[in-house]
Amino acid sequence: MRIDKVLGNLGYGTRSEIKKYCKYGMVVVNGEVIKNNSFHVDPKKDEIIFNGEKVNYREYIYLMLNKPDGYISATYDNVDKTVLDLIDQEYLAFNPFPVGRLDKDTEGLLILTNDGQLSHRVLSPKRHVPKTYYARIHGVVTSDDVDAFKEGLILDDGYKTLPGELEILKSDSISEINLTIHEGKFHQVKRMFESVDKKVIYLKRISMGGLKLDENLALGEYRELTEEEIKLLE
Ligand code: URA
Repeated sequence: MRIDKVLGNLGYGTRSEIKKYCKYGMVVVNGEVIKNNSFHVDPKKDEIIFNGEKVNYREYIYLMLNKPDGYISATYDNVDKTVLDLIDQEYLAFNPFPVGRLDKDTEGLLILTNDGQLSHRVLSPKRHVPKTYYARIHGVVTSDDVDAFKEGLILDDGYKTLPGELEILKSDSISEINLTIHEGKFHQVKRMFESVDKKVIYLKRISMGGLKLDENLALGEYRELTEEEIKLLE
């Protein structure tokens, strides 16, 4: 791979900037100053130093975002802001995309990666990866609802959901709940509550597989997943 491509992918600058950095002697490969930006390296084997610091090459990035209301879970939209608008260039250089979707008004845990295989595994309908949501509901959520969710609900299109685990945190005119589901139909949580004549007025994803949203992340903030967290998704 060309050195300017390797450094560009890692967010060290544009191709033309990296060309200049090479000219200035800022790039060293296996102890040798590389002035030619088209020089070929094996980023997994060669030692690359940029401006005196070792370059950690990696192919994939994994980010946990606390998605705010108002952002579309997509890489492009010609009207709305997308979750990529919240990500710095350093990571955008890896071409990340969201693993699955949250509605524009849903907040919470969203994974962004450029690892297509991991995304595929997490989203595979065969694997039933559990997803837990916290929600505020207009209406009194009762133990009858808990039973109905456990049984599986018929959605507006006639689809019967897999059993969902509904936990009531507060039962009042505005109720609070946690709900774990094992599939990801369009607007699933909202439609499940509609089927018991209640309305979701706030929705936040708090976990996916064994991975929990880091509560230290403010809305719109993100961080890289740790090795252990990546394993939880595999
Ligand atoms: N269910 C919904 O209704 N919306 C989401 O964003 C996620 C799950």
